[in-house]
Order: sequence, then structure tokens, then C-alpha cells
Amino acid sequence: MGADDASPPPPRGSILVADDEPHIRRVLTTLLRNAEFQVLEACDGAEAWALVDSPRPIDLAILDLMMPKATGLEVLAWMRRHPRHARTPVIILTAKGQDTDRQKALSGGAEDFLTKPFSPKKLLLRIREILSER
Ligand SMILES: [Mg+2]
Repeated sequence: MGADDASPPPPRGSILVADDEPHIRRVLTTLLRNAEFQVLEACDGAEAWALVDSPRPIDLAILDLMMPKATGLEVLAWMRRHPRHARTPVIILTAKGQDTDRQKALSGGAEDFLTKPFSPKKLLLRIREILSER
């Protein structure tokens, strides 16, 4: 075995995590980094949008529905009109489970809609599923 065998594997992709709850960001960031994804963190809708509009690659976005400055649905709508992110998969995360929000997320072009508390295992599975379909 050469010295190169010890180098970390390349990241599986870059994921934007936008949520105003630090606890949720920490859970998601730890989960995704352990699964060898790169994570970009945003604590509100404005930060999320700044990252979306930056040249940094984003392969998938997890957007909290209720965030200060812009909601997950607003960020999703901006992404769908953005030249580089019109087809970037989005998962909307929410504490509320109302069908109208689910409907808005899915008709707005979200790939999926998950209600907190979510199963980390299921979320990871879903992310891998979505990224492998690309
Ligand atoms: Mg929130």
C-alpha cells in the first residue's frame, strides 16, 4: 500500500444546509460530513441565497421552510430561476407538516419534503438516491 492510500476519499458532492436552528444545522452537518459530503451552511434565507448565487458548487440543497429573511420556498423559487441551479435538487425541511406546504414545495420544484424530526438514516438514503438519479 502506498502513502496515497491514506489520503481521504474525494467528497461525494457539495450540499447546502440552510436552517435557522443551530441544533438542526449541527445534526445535518455532522451527518453529511461523516458521509463524506462537503457542507455549506447558511443560518437564514439571505445567507442561503448568497451561497446559491456564489460560484461555489452545490449539488443538492436542504432548505428549512421557516427561516428569517427568506423562507425555504422563496429560496427554492429563486434557485429554479437561477441559471446554474434551475435543476439542482432541493429537499424542503420543516417542523410543520401541513399538506399545503408540502404541495407548495413539490409544485415549486422540490425533490422531496421532510418533516422534523426526521430520521438521519432515511435522509441520507434519500440524498444518495436523488444524487444517483442525476
Ligand atoms: Mg426554521
